Amino acid sequence: MTKLRLILGDQLNAKHSWVKQKEENVIYLMAEMRQETDYVKHHIQKVVAFFLSMRNFAEALKKAGHKVIYYKISDEASLHDLEKIISKLITENKIEKFEYQLPDEYRLDEQLKNICFHMKIESEAFDTEHFYTNRTELADFFEGKKLLLMENFYRMMRKKHHVLMQGSQPEGNQWNFDKDNRLKYKGQVPVPDALTFNPNIGEILTEIEEANVATFGKIDVMKFNWPTSRKACLEQLKYFCENLLIHFGDYEDAMHTDEKFLFHSRLSFAMNSKMLSPEEVIETVIDFYHENEEVITISQVEGFVRQILGWREYVRGIYWKEMPNYGKKNALENHNKLPDFYWTGKTKMNCMQKSISQSLEEAYAHHIQRLMIIGNFSLLTQMHPDEVDAWYLGVYIDAIEWVEMPNTRGMSQYADGGIIATKPYVSSGNYINKMSNYCGNCKYNVKEKLGEKACPFNSLYWNFLDDKKEYFANNQRMNMMMVLLNKIKPEELINIKEKAQHIMENLDSY
Ligand code: FAD
Ligand code: SF4
Repeated sequence: MTKLRLILGDQLNAKHSWVKQKEENVIYLMAEMRQETDYVKHHIQKVVAFFLSMRNFAEALKKAGHKVIYYKISDEASLHDLEKIISKLITENKIEKFEYQLPDEYRLDEQLKNICFHMKIESEAFDTEHFYTNRTELADFFEGKKLLLMENFYRMMRKKHHVLMQGSQPEGNQWNFDKDNRLKYKGQVPVPDALTFNPNIGEILTEIEEANVATFGKIDVMKFNWPTSRKACLEQLKYFCENLLIHFGDYEDAMHTDEKFLFHSRLSFAMNSKMLSPEEVIETVIDFYHENEEVITISQVEGFVRQILGWREYVRGIYWKEMPNYGKKNALENHNKLPDFYWTGKTKMNCMQKSISQSLEEAYAHHIQRLMIIGNFSLLTQMHPDEVDAWYLGVYIDAIEWVEMPNTRGMSQYADGGIIATKPYVSSGNYINKMSNYCGNCKYNVKEKLGEKACPFNSLYWNFLDDKKEYFANNQRMNMMMVLLNKIKPEELINIKEKAQHIMENLDSY
């Protein structure tokens, strides 16, 4: 039986059972398509990284003797629609069965189901053999529960997959070392230089430009930071173990003007494209830890494992449990538009300037910059979650909807009404000052709420709490914040709200 097998751009799993042995009757299809470059405006580095990784994967398949049909972005226009490509190849190659791997995005899942429904030949969907969990495992685990607590899911995953366990007990006698992961970075230890790969990206960049793909963000042809082959991904993982793991947990939440990456792994693209599996990342890191226990502490390793075995699988489960409605949620009824500086980085707020400029330069910001700087500001200024989602989905190298949306719309914008976060992640300038050195070099004064020099986060924070106080009236976790809000004198609160209003109406001048 002749088979056509589709491999999507984020399904570059070299260990998938499909590709373990070559089969004469199988043709693999891979395509750089306009439907994928255009569903949201992407950062140029993201488009380059995906296309380059796809081309490297296709070459590796061909070298291993597989038959591969590969369409480039520069190929003719009719080849940019998935349905048209599949139907053309089925006819041309007398295909008798169509096979695909389950997409991680709802959009593509629906499209492929629809294509197969109308197809005259047999079709079948296969697992991507990438995640620890399947699409419904989280929903089954929380069946009948009101609160979908990540910590409960994470502990179940540790036990089930026997990760960092000693018998039935967690290694280090503690499930979670989150409290040890909150050091401020003050140059205590040097941060190693980021690993760079510098593949030749000139040709692919020209092809993307000539195809008129609309992108944003910066790219340096001489310095491309992202691993785009399995070999490079493995190098990135090794580099993380040998150079960064030792301080990963300590400075996980820290931010610093001179250190864009600190001790973060920058492995999200390698994993989200499936060039690395979460299991091999976790096993490699834990093996390295066990070989080096005299220098690496459990809190560094547990902090890392929690992000992948816990958060990454958790948000995937939430996505599949809640889609398609999740993408429409706007529980706090926020409707403002993003200001222009999200695309230029031109703002006087040093924390926003640094975090946004870095995102535009590197297609990367680490978790706390995404959550407590840009996400925090977007929520305090009451941006529409659709706008925030589209920005995050476009700007980051690792942004694919299944992981971007629960993090952005859910965790960061509270638009899901508390499915993921039990309270909104908002803060005044105080938290930013505690966790970074941004405020020291800022035009604004982090201690002030009112006046021209006052840090915008301060008035915006109290204004947000006041605007949303009815919504959060029954949320126990907000009690403390609301008690403090009620302590502000009415005249002062009026001034604070006026100031916040002025900021929201004149965002591009702040
Ligand atoms: P590290 O800090 O080294 O962490 C190790 C790995 O843990 C990451 O590579 C990632 O795979 C995983 N991880 C950590 N936190 C999360 C999380 N909250 N959810 C899922 N996986 C996690 N991550 C994405 O992969 N794609 C996104 O589009 C994305 N959007 C985000 C949007 C917002 C508003 C926030 C707050 C977080 C988002 N994250 C996203 C999660 C996290 O910020 C990134 O995974 C991380 O910054 C990637 O950098 P790293 O590889 O250096 O991570
Ligand atoms: Fe950001 Fe306010 Fe600190 Fe400036 S003072 S860096 S705006 S938190």
